[in-house]
Amino acid sequence: MRSMNQIDYLRISLIDRCNFRCRYCMPEKADLEYILRQQLLTFEELLTLIQEVFIPVGFTKFRLTGGEPLLYPDVVKLVQVIASFPQTQDLAMTTNGFLLAGMAQDLYDAGLRRINISLDSLNPEIFDQIIGNPGRARWQQVWDGIQTAHRVGFSPLKLNVVVIPGVNDNEVLDLAALTIERQWHIRFIEFMPIGNAQLFGDQGWIPSAELRQRIRDRWGLMESQVCGNGPADVFQIPRAKGTLGFISQMSECFCDRCNRMRLSADGWLRPCLLNESNQIDLKTPLRTGVNLAKLREQVSQLLALKPEINFKQRESGTIGAYSRTMSQIGG
Ligand code: SAM
Ligand code: SF4
Repeated sequence: MRSMNQIDYLRISLIDRCNFRCRYCMPEKADLEYILRQQLLTFEELLTLIQEVFIPVGFTKFRLTGGEPLLYPDVVKLVQVIASFPQTQDLAMTTNGFLLAGMAQDLYDAGLRRINISLDSLNPEIFDQIIGNPGRARWQQVWDGIQTAHRVGFSPLKLNVVVIPGVNDNEVLDLAALTIERQWHIRFIEFMPIGNAQLFGDQGWIPSAELRQRIRDRWGLMESQVCGNGPADVFQIPRAKGTLGFISQMSECFCDRCNRMRLSADGWLRPCLLNESNQIDLKTPLRTGVNLAKLREQVSQLLALKPEINFKQRESGTIGAYSRTMSQIGG
């Protein structure tokens, strides 16, 4: 029997490329190296890993992320296949929403029901600055994507907000207010120093507790009955239709309830977001024809090791230097 925090949730980064270049996610300078095409897992390799390795060792929840997952050429087909596996208990996606208006219905029809859309600002100009495309007027298209996803029936529909002091923290109340009349769920994420040393050094980060206080002062705040199974602490403005989640990986340690692993677009399995040790390469053995039972064994060993990896991370409490950016890890 597995421990309380059963590790059954895989975040799959489909692609490391993105049509945005968010300042908190990708390096400021043009020195980001994309994974070469031949290094990326093919559609078939990814499905083999899911079906023959991850599902048999107990993974039942999957999130498609990136880079930008909607740039992945076969994303609708992939959703359809993963949703059709009887073992799939949950399938979700995290997207920047830019291509969503045109794809939401197809994704829903393919079996996707849960979606997180990143929306860091309600101000189109600030939004363009954050996503690294000043003057490109992209906010409206993302907003249309959110509205379309809502109309199509995605539920829960969550909006992810990375809060950066002096950039968008003055919008926390406006963003929280979206949940009062709509059954939308905002996830405020503490800004992490991964791949963005300059911005992080200049701006710093704000603890979730401070954001909660601002919201409490304005409307009051209560713990929500709707609890996620993830790292968010979920609250609600009294009588609001939606909820407010706080992901506080900088100020709090939730390693003991971490139920996830991450698969990169080039086939590396990573047991911890904040810790680069113990990653395993699944693509090379897959390509060299290793017996799949051997891969299952390797992943099972990593699953068994994870509580210890979490414990070490919890003990050290440090955030180190990372060789990969968030766009490569998948958030
Ligand atoms: N492109 C998609 C998107 O933006 O939603 C999916 C990939 S993105 C890497 C996944 C999540 O990571 C997004 O919600 C994004 O806001 C978050 N993220 C990226 N960089 C971050 C950072 N430095 N600190 C905290 N969250 C970050
Ligand atoms: Fe792209 Fe998402 Fe990273 Fe922004 S947060 S650059 S949209 S991967």
